[in-house]
Amino acid sequence: MTPAQLHDYLRFYRDLGVKNLYRRTPALQADDRGAASTVELPPLAPPGETLVRIREDIGDCRRCRLCEQRNKIVFGSGNERARLVFVGEGPGADEDAQGLPFVGRAGQLLTQMIENTAAKEGIPIRRPDVYICNVVKCRPPENRTPQPDEMEICGQFLFRQLMTIRPAAICALGSTAAKALLGTKEGVMRLRGNWHKWRDIPVIVTYHPSYLLRPYNQDAKREAWEDLKKVLHLVYD
Ligand code: URA
Repeated sequence: MTPAQLHDYLRFYRDLGVKNLYRRTPALQADDRGAASTVELPPLAPPGETLVRIREDIGDCRRCRLCEQRNKIVFGSGNERARLVFVGEGPGADEDAQGLPFVGRAGQLLTQMIENTAAKEGIPIRRPDVYICNVVKCRPPENRTPQPDEMEICGQFLFRQLMTIRPAAICALGSTAAKALLGTKEGVMRLRGNWHKWRDIPVIVTYHPSYLLRPYNQDAKREAWEDLKKVLHLVYD
């Protein structure tokens, strides 16, 4: 977000009567990236914001080193008016090839988790009813964990996506998503089981599907199903 955009955002919220906007004014003097990461704006998108516009702003992105080896930018997929958003870490090889999030093995597991849990709980939703995206939109080489500067640069687009969709809840898949949304270094084991917040939106943290694919993680699988049940009931009951 540029300082000029930030100014427009702040004016928009002030005109709406939102209080405490200037609680963290030092960020107004901060540089471009600092401002994006330190200002806590209400979870409302400014007028005219759409997912299409955010995608256009990303363009043929060269803002960080992840552009060098990527094939396709993986923006996100699903229902733009979803009540539930899943946030993963970053595209893998299949996602990089297709330009769509969670289409590889981990993605198939995520689809099963969403659809089977919803069906069991009598909640009439399928994968296309939710929205799925990642913290970083380009595949990190060798599927390494995204680095802090990559997360910060790409995080501005994730936050705009979330403000535009404004879901009733967010499910953070794995510790990278938790870190991006909650600013914490805690691991999933400590974070799961409790509700957290991104701005004023409830967040549940659970295991990343890739972790659940490892054969020795039976307990984690059961816990992830519990987490999913919890968030589905919060959103759809
Ligand atoms: N892992 C992720 O975190 N995101 C994807 O889109 C696929 C695998």
